[in-house]
Amino acid sequence: MSTRPALFIDRDGTLIADAHYLSDVHLVQLLPATGAATQLARSAGVPVIIVTNQSGIARGLITPAQYEATRERTTALVESVGGAILATYHCPHLPDVTGACDCRKPGLGMYHQASREHGIDLTRSAYIGDRWRDAQPALATGGLGILVPGRETPAEDVRRAEAAAEHHANIAVCHSLIDAVVLALTRLGIGDLPPSSPPHPLPV
Ligand SMILES: [Mg+2]
Ligand SMILES: [Zn+2]
Repeated sequence: MSTRPALFIDRDGTLIADAHYLSDVHLVQLLPATGAATQLARSAGVPVIIVTNQSGIARGLITPAQYEATRERTTALVESVGGAILATYHCPHLPDVTGACDCRKPGLGMYHQASREHGIDLTRSAYIGDRWRDAQPALATGGLGILVPGRETPAEDVRRAEAAAEHHANIAVCHSLIDAVVLALTRLGIGDLPPSSPPHPLPV
């Protein structure tokens, strides 16, 4: 099977507001940069795949049906602003409750599943989110890992991403999801950026 790159993007705190164990579909709210960022990916022809740790399911705070409603709502909202979501993967586990799993980020289970199911080349993909564990998989898979710090991002996660960026050319920190998508498309040489995109300086 021929393979293609993807943008793996975290959900809570990256595409939608982090509502802490989101169980109420009415609280799904896109973050301000999500529309432009997902439009850009779509116009470049690079699919967006959501990967999300949902330990609230293991904790009994979110039912599978509630999670499914928030998944559908998130996809619908992204589509309503001109973006698209190819697929969503979630880890419902929590090691202390359900035992170890290979899907909880920064584990690679969700990425490998997406690769199998959608023919994704993990070495040419981007790993984007508001926690270090969202970007960290790039160290194992190749591709580009990008931390986009948000309101809920621990300072420790920023410190770890910045430290990793000093030693690894494929780790970066961007302060907007739009910048992260532009950087991913540019650095990975993937997709067709619209000609109107401003030239984007590459980090040295
Ligand atoms: Mg997050
Ligand atoms: Zn899991």
